[in-house]
Amino acid sequence: MMSRKITVIPGDGIGPDIVKSALAILEKAGCEFEYEFVDAGLTALEKTGELLPQATLDAIANNGVTLKGPLTTPVGEGFTSINVSLRKRFGLYANLRPVKSFKGTQARYDNIDIITVRENTEGMYSGLGQKVSEDGSEAEAMSKITRAGAERIVRFAYDLARREGRKKVTAVHKANILKSTSGLFLKVAREIAEEYPDIESAEMIVDAACMRLVMNPEDFDVLVTTNLFGDILSDLCAGLVGGLGMAPGANIGKDCAIFEAVHGSAPDIAGKNLANPSSVILAAIQMLEYLEMPEPAERITRALADVIESGDRTTRDLGGSHGTTDFTDAVIERL
Ligand code: NAD
Repeated sequence: MMSRKITVIPGDGIGPDIVKSALAILEKAGCEFEYEFVDAGLTALEKTGELLPQATLDAIANNGVTLKGPLTTPVGEGFTSINVSLRKRFGLYANLRPVKSFKGTQARYDNIDIITVRENTEGMYSGLGQKVSEDGSEAEAMSKITRAGAERIVRFAYDLARREGRKKVTAVHKANILKSTSGLFLKVAREIAEEYPDIESAEMIVDAACMRLVMNPEDFDVLVTTNLFGDILSDLCAGLVGGLGMAPGANIGKDCAIFEAVHGSAPDIAGKNLANPSSVILAAIQMLEYLEMPEPAERITRALADVIESGDRTTRDLGGSHGTTDFTDAVIERL
């Protein structure tokens, strides 16, 4: 088999350590990828004076598939979020955030299996109409939803449900108040639902969905929603399975896909060998599924699940007392 080239952005803070862990695990699982390492974020800013150097953008475009560590967006004016920039630039319209219970975590539930499909380019994060009045007393921003954008993401969610043999898609909205934007999203969701009679369709107002997710998470299967709601709901879902250390995310467009941890660069624990690498390992598993490599994906999932369930060399956030490298060794031994 010809080896496939993948762009790797180690990232900032805990990024390089947890990405290194994921790459070692991929290698042990027999995945013969060729990697092109490039920088973004604070690391790139320090080296090149740019948060997103052209070489990084070229690598992402040329290789199509990227595995990325978390990036630090410097605080202050003039810096737009790098993640938002990447999503816009490469048309990564679907943000796919699965959460699944692993036995042995500190989570409150043990039966969670939910995928949030978040629209990644429109809504409150479209960056349109950002204004603050001169005296600082008023601020405004625009939210824009398009029929094409809503159709594309809702179809993506139903196709995913079909492909993965899932039973139900719940459209989450706030159409009772945000009548124009959320209203259009809901209207489109209802139309598309009719094209998928084999999948159960449900709709729920976002505030009620938050409560139901906490009280009866087993009622949910695939969630599809707009950008801001998806951002918040997917973190809530991460909380159901033991926190951000267990939550991966895929940003998928027509020609490119970027797989990453949902959490940030965790500057409070950076360089201390304390980070749980599971989120990037799970992102690498998502990447393997995207590349239609189910066999190593399943083997890595089993090894990871066994380490967490047995508590063998787990990190502090999982109730253990070990570091990133010991945890990685425990997964590798099982492979
Ligand atoms: P964070 O997600 O980095 O950290 C929040 C808390 O979770 C911290 O206490 C941290 O120690 C802990 N944590 C996060 N990942 C962990 C892991 N793998 N193992 C163990 N504990 C973990 O959020 P923050 O502190 O608000 O943000 C730090 C920086 O990250 C900011 O610059 C922000 O812009 C950036 N950020 C980047 C991304 C991304 O690149 N996708 C996402 C969110 C935030």
